[in-house]
Amino acid sequence: MRLIDADELKKRAEKVCFADIPDCGDFDVVGVSDIDIMPTIDPESLRPTAHWIKRGYVCGENEYECSACHETEWRTSASRMKYCMFCGARMVNTDESL
Ligand SMILES: [Zn+2]
Repeated sequence: MRLIDADELKKRAEKVCFADIPDCGDFDVVGVSDIDIMPTIDPESLRPTAHWIKRGYVCGENEYECSACHETEWRTSASRMKYCMFCGARMVNTDESL
């Protein structure tokens, strides 16, 4: 499956009118070739991103707060938490070495 931006495709749609249809509304027509040239969307890029906010430190464990859902998790390092286990956000600052 290839994901495309339907909103972008709509912009390319052409309004046409059929003469043999009395109550002629506007028909949006999109060519198949238009679909072919639509950029592919990486589903991973649609996943919301967040980052861990370091809150506390006790006995080698850090408290990390998800910037998206504000749930907290105690871990020695955030490096293994690439995704929030609460809201599923993709963490963008997991490369920090602790
Ligand atoms: Zn979260």
